[in-house]
Amino acid sequence: MNHKYIDLHLHIDGSLNVRWMYERALLRGVIPADTTFAAYYDTIFPKGEQGDALFAKFDVPLAVMQCEEDIHDACYSLLKQISEDGVIYAELRFGPQLHTRKGLSQEQALLAAISGVKDAMRDFPIKANILNAFMHAGDSARVNEKENFETLYLTRKYLGQCVAGLDLAGYENNCDLNEYAPLFEEARKLNIPYTIHAGEMGNGANVPKAIAMGAKRLGHGIFAVQDPSYVQAILDSGIPLEVCVTSNLYFGFTYATHPIRELMDKGVKVTVNSDDMTFCLNNMPYEFYMLKKVGFSDEELLQCTLNAVDAAFLSDEEKQELRKKILNEE
Ligand SMILES: [Zn+2]
Repeated sequence: MNHKYIDLHLHIDGSLNVRWMYERALLRGVIPADTTFAAYYDTIFPKGEQGDALFAKFDVPLAVMQCEEDIHDACYSLLKQISEDGVIYAELRFGPQLHTRKGLSQEQALLAAISGVKDAMRDFPIKANILNAFMHAGDSARVNEKENFETLYLTRKYLGQCVAGLDLAGYENNCDLNEYAPLFEEARKLNIPYTIHAGEMGNGANVPKAIAMGAKRLGHGIFAVQDPSYVQAILDSGIPLEVCVTSNLYFGFTYATHPIRELMDKGVKVTVNSDDMTFCLNNMPYEFYMLKKVGFSDEELLQCTLNAVDAAFLSDEEKQELRKKILNEE
């Protein structure tokens, strides 16, 4: 079994070390000075919340990622951690508009993230890129359309400088996914590759919509199993899914009942990813370990990793390098 991993779907704000967040939260004064670690820890984990309330948990890490130093250090320490887990390439989701609460511009936030990624790539045996995320906010895409367009143009400006593309993230079922079509149309014109969170939260109909918007991959996509025509749309497009099994347990699955098996057996190109390591209490080795426990063979898991190489927003040369590393050809 291979022990080198590719993680194409990893949110920085959802994957930070809790001890690190706690120390920064004290340092920045975002929690009272007498807050114990146990009390802080307790605020992070969902207690049956659903939908928007579940996503409010991201406010805990976001409270300490509002200055350049914290954003830099968050990226750096996350890449250090996953490098130790055996990840050799990662695409990190970052929503620049979420880091402007204390006066940073989206551009300052993104530059801080880029510097953290570059420093980590210098110090650890890992390669990484940032995918800037458009955010769902409120009941209409118009609520933060201006901020999302700003994210789009920033992505164009820094594409190729540890920035590899775009995503749409947040609570998926706030409004019709098609409301975001103008953003993706513009991204397509500017030759920015993008993935879209779709079919994560019970609405498989978002899968064909995201494919029609030109997504090169889908975040999750698992509720496509609701309707054979949705799965067929994935197969016809040939695009891969960024599956995050442990993360999806929040939506009622077990490892054994998760649709990853059904999708793979139907010929969908599946990749395995960790999504939000803080909230999911997982990492890439754990995802592979659990899939093996529910019957995935070493060959199938290796295929998932090779699918991730093919699906990465990288040049053919960079993919070939990764492939060699995965197959231990060097
Ligand atoms: Zn995600």
